Amino acid sequence: MSARILDGNALSVQVRSQLADAAAALSARGVQPCLAVILVGGDPASAVYVRNKVAACEKAGIKSLKFEYPQDVDPARVFERIAALNADSSVHGILVQLPLPPQFDEKAVLEAISVAKDVDGFHAENVGRLSQGQEAFFPCTPHGVMKMLEAAEVPVKGADAVVIGRSNIVGKPMAVLLTNAGATVTVCHSQTRDLAAHTRRADIVVAAVGRPRFLKADMVKPGAAVIDVGINRLRDGAEAGKLCGDVDFDAVKEVAGAISPVPGGVGPMTITMLLANTVESARRAAAKAGL
Ligand code: NDP
Repeated sequence: MSARILDGNALSVQVRSQLADAAAALSARGVQPCLAVILVGGDPASAVYVRNKVAACEKAGIKSLKFEYPQDVDPARVFERIAALNADSSVHGILVQLPLPPQFDEKAVLEAISVAKDVDGFHAENVGRLSQGQEAFFPCTPHGVMKMLEAAEVPVKGADAVVIGRSNIVGKPMAVLLTNAGATVTVCHSQTRDLAAHTRRADIVVAAVGRPRFLKADMVKPGAAVIDVGINRLRDGAEAGKLCGDVDFDAVKEVAGAISPVPGGVGPMTITMLLANTVESARRAAAKAGL
């Protein structure tokens, strides 16, 4: 039987509409949620991501400010901008699009952003708070995955979950969020000895590898929920140029109980959770100001 498709586009429409209502209510109280985006250099993929984020903000009634710098900019200028945005009470979220050119220390840039405005959830303090189960901004991609599991009523408490990938932006925070939600989590990576032995006993598999169609049908337990975070652009053959995930979708959907597609799965939810974090930051700012 074919798996239930976890439609990230449909869920995004629903969540973004709720966020637009929340943004309108905050604006009526004099606090329009505002996201500042910093883009350095001319990487075309980064430019597309930023354009999509700005467009999504506008549609939800969230103000967006965009600051662009050339590839060879002196990092001091970007740090000055971040400091000014940190000090500006009308700005609730600050996002620096990664990757940055080589003259930048990425970690230092992320740490320069105020914890209260770190809507990407990459600041070490937010990462620490997340791992301690405290209130924090959760990184948008794993946060979006949790929202998808919740909306699809996939049981997480007590489930065996396998996360493939241990990056700071996806794999690790994904494992922490699943652990905090009561799953028993195994994190797999390139050094894992027998990956399929782990994935085959998992009720939930999250693939964040960056390799096209990496997770095959014989690596999945019948009925499992499979979440595909991967975004890969195929280079060769008849499918050159096509986007595909880390999961062999056509085959795995015949084994899994639920599966997210690429495109139209986790991708739109990532932007949606960025909007959610920005609105939440504005809500906190309004509450602090007694509005
Ligand atoms: P990274 O390259 O940082 O991490 C990839 C992870 O996969 C690493 O931990 C690596 O292991 C592991 N890995 C690589 N090869 C294997 C293998 N053969 N077996 C097991 N594990 C392996 O990627 P990201 O986490 O940044 O992104 C992962 C994917 O998700 C990419 O396709 C990216 O484009 C996509 N993505 C999608 C987003 C969305 O919005 N949908 C947002 C962010 C990313 P090791 O650590 O040992 O090297």
